[in-house]
Amino acid sequence: MTPKISRRQFIKAGTAAAAGLAIVPASSILKIGANRSGEKVIVIGAGLAGLSCAYELNKAGFDVTVLEARTRPGGRVRTYRDPFADNLYAEMGAEYVDSSDEYARKYCKEFGLDILPAKQYDGIYVRGKKYGMADFKAMKQILPYKGTVGGKLFGQEFEFVRHWVEKIKDPKNIPEDVLDLDNMSAAQLLRKEGAPRDIIDLYKYTNATESTCTPDQMSALNMVFNFYTAAFSEDTVEGRIFGGNDQLPKRFAKEIAANLKYNCPVKKISHSKSGIEVTFEENGKLTSISADRCIIAMPLTILRKTKITPYFSDEKMHCIRKQSYGEVMKIAMQFKRRIWDEQGSVGQRVFTDTDLRRVYHFSIDQPGPRGILLSFTSGSSAAKLGKMSQKQRMRVARETATELWPETPQLWESGISKYWNEDPWMQGSYTYVSPGQWDFIDILAQPEGRVHFAGEHTSEFHSSMNGAIESGVRASKEIIEV
Ligand SMILES: Cc1cc2nc3c(=O)[nH]c(=O)nc-3n(C[C@H](O)[C@H](O)[C@H](O)COP(=O)(O)OP(=O)(O)OC[C@H]3O[C@@H](n4cnc5c(N)ncnc54)[C@H](O)[C@@H]3O)c2cc1C
Repeated sequence: MTPKISRRQFIKAGTAAAAGLAIVPASSILKIGANRSGEKVIVIGAGLAGLSCAYELNKAGFDVTVLEARTRPGGRVRTYRDPFADNLYAEMGAEYVDSSDEYARKYCKEFGLDILPAKQYDGIYVRGKKYGMADFKAMKQILPYKGTVGGKLFGQEFEFVRHWVEKIKDPKNIPEDVLDLDNMSAAQLLRKEGAPRDIIDLYKYTNATESTCTPDQMSALNMVFNFYTAAFSEDTVEGRIFGGNDQLPKRFAKEIAANLKYNCPVKKISHSKSGIEVTFEENGKLTSISADRCIIAMPLTILRKTKITPYFSDEKMHCIRKQSYGEVMKIAMQFKRRIWDEQGSVGQRVFTDTDLRRVYHFSIDQPGPRGILLSFTSGSSAAKLGKMSQKQRMRVARETATELWPETPQLWESGISKYWNEDPWMQGSYTYVSPGQWDFIDILAQPEGRVHFAGEHTSEFHSSMNGAIESGVRASKEIIEV
């Protein structure tokens, strides 16, 4: 089951180097850009993709304007501070920086931001019973799901797809019959391979939850390839930016403050061989600006509602319209005391099959006694909670927390949710690969004339901050090196 090479390692060693995507020393960027100083570039979206792109272009001497619909930078990097007491905060969007996230780590280092190691799963609560992760790893306990093996939580479906995984010898040359798996869902393949219903049910709570979809929605090829590449598991080493992830987009934004226009939602993108015109709303009025080039770094959920004239190529338009995004909600709960640290607690980071899915102590870098418990709810559970009012969501959160820690009613002080599917400038979580979407990333990343594309949806490391930054750096290089 151990992958021979991780997709990330492969990309780093292969594609990144071959396509010149590796992080380039500032000195060489400046040299290339110097001749074209003053060329006008519009960047649409001030998430990490747009910010990193604008930052690099600005350094290279281009005349950059960033148009952002919100009144803050960071997009899906969203740290809530105000709702809580005692300087507590919570990541309501992107949270973890993996040990292999070289682009995110590179810029954290450049801006002097430290990465704090995150806690790994130490508790499990499924089918109404609590288990300690250590007991699982020591093979003392087995999950109450038919067909599972001891010693691990994630990856229980591996034995049913092993022969498919073993067919992949070279990620650049995947056999045709394996590529054909993109025509069915992960659930369909598992059923076809004789996996018990329980294995599919568990997959919904393991990797499908990470992807914010369901096993019926995810491409079978994606599930198989994930095994080849070291998919997320209970052993994945993760970190968070010490003091809050919002510091990273804020640092980028500070460097290019004069180039940023907030509260300016883009409504229309016109492009031709000679230039670009972008129309946006400013102070209630439509305004247009022209440029030599443009980078679209907004989510496809919004781009598909933006006027594009003329349309991009058929295959690009197809991907823009069809790319799948999942469902995700986070709930932050303020507790008067950190009961999860106390004797007899099920754990500090608990994997559950409840509608809250992952429930964990967030405020590990802050002193008590108060603390924040966070939940990461995705897929069908997020869709279900998303239909509820804030009050009803809090009732579910509180009741679930009480199942995990019975003293919850006495110690719960407040709770707040962020449902990304109802966010007007996102309307989804992040991209995942549905059947038929295996090659979407490559198509979405391709420039079309003077228009370039960035955003997590255009990166091999999609669905991550690292992927967003990688895409921004790649798009900046496309322009710098024209
Ligand atoms: C709940 C949640 C948890 C996550 N957890 C993790 C994690 O643990 N680790 C990790 O690495 N990643 C995680 N991610 C994913 C990560 O947040 C994203 O991959 C990344 O931040 C995307 O950056 P981006 O720049 O591509 O897009 P965005 O951050 O979405 O930025 C796009 C920007 O475009 C703007 N925009 C939209 N429409 C318009 C318009 N019409 N005109 C102008 N601007 C517009 C938006 O306001 C936004 O600021 C998580 C995401 C969510 C939602």
